[in-house]
Amino acid sequence: MAATYVEGKNLKELKKEMMTCTMCGFCKSVCPAFEGVGWDPGVARGRMVLSYGLLQKDIPADDSVVEALYQCTTCKDCERRCPSKVKVVDVVERARKDMVASGVMLPSHRKVVDNILKYGNPYGEKISVPQALGQKPRTADVGYFVGCTAAYRNPAAAKATISIMGKLGEDFTLLNETCCGSVMERVGWNEEDVVAQMEKNVKAVEDQGVDEAVFSCAGCYRMFKEEYPKHVDVPFKVRHVSEYLADKDLKLSPLEKKLTYHDPCHLGRHSGVYKAPRAVLAKFPGAEFKEMAKNSSESRCCGGGGGVRSAYPELSEHIAARRVADAGFADILVTSCPFCVTNLKAGKERTGAKVEIIDLVELVDRQLS
Ligand code: SF4
Ligand code: SF4
Repeated sequence: MAATYVEGKNLKELKKEMMTCTMCGFCKSVCPAFEGVGWDPGVARGRMVLSYGLLQKDIPADDSVVEALYQCTTCKDCERRCPSKVKVVDVVERARKDMVASGVMLPSHRKVVDNILKYGNPYGEKISVPQALGQKPRTADVGYFVGCTAAYRNPAAAKATISIMGKLGEDFTLLNETCCGSVMERVGWNEEDVVAQMEKNVKAVEDQGVDEAVFSCAGCYRMFKEEYPKHVDVPFKVRHVSEYLADKDLKLSPLEKKLTYHDPCHLGRHSGVYKAPRAVLAKFPGAEFKEMAKNSSESRCCGGGGGVRSAYPELSEHIAARRVADAGFADILVTSCPFCVTNLKAGKERTGAKVEIIDLVELVDRQLS
């Protein structure tokens, strides 16, 4: 990639954040990417220095800078640990936006965005989400927003959610959805196209007369709950499937297993949903639940987010393997995001660990009569 000096139009607004970093290095103790990279450009403080250098045009966006800024999973754990409360993720994402606007973009991310713009999903699949799952959208009280990963790459979670809603007698439908826009936003694509995705999705939900949209993907949920309202009206209730299930009377058969739970970063640190999935796990008769040492707001990232999975699969799986090792005491490692499930399974492959990795909805469906 040619070395380009970028216009810091977006970074300019966060100059104070970059200058607030005191270089204390506390972020080193939690950054999952730093564990894999091992030197300062791979941790929050290094990313703040590089972003400032881009803004000041002291450095070009050469390969090493692009790599450092795109190896951040946007997990937000550094922000929790940072004594100066630097908005690291915002800075990293602004730096990406400025690089993309200046024509600097990783080929794997470009392909993903091109697929979304052309087909409405990052995988380049040519059928709609409902078609992929053999469903016909209609009007209903509850709309299940499946998300591209569950629809096209990990259909077990989507099928389980559909099955659960059927067993509970819910008046539900699949939606005429398109990509929620999360991956575009994470890799730094322009706001105009991200907002267009938001508008299409809100219209689809409205057109189907849905009062409540339920999400099984943590990334899609975060977009609708936290990001959409900044740009568009969201005139319906938004709930993650764990929140939906926590409110239900579930008749679950006994499960004599040791369970633990991995908090997806988008659901936990980014959206504040910690209690609901644990409340659902507490409904399994006979199950023994134990937290991993790093849990809830201190949860370790699975390594899959922020575009790292598609651009740096080696680093992504290295991080995932560390997370799977944390769950070595458990029979089942449960999480609540199809993207985390996919990445943790890849990490498991590397370690030869015995722990079963499963989405919460699959476990519920398996035990639900
Ligand atoms: S913890 Fe915060 S202030 Fe300290 S080096 Fe990291 S980003 Fe900078
Ligand atoms: S958001 Fe996560 S991966 Fe990125 S710098 Fe912070 S701790 Fe590291």
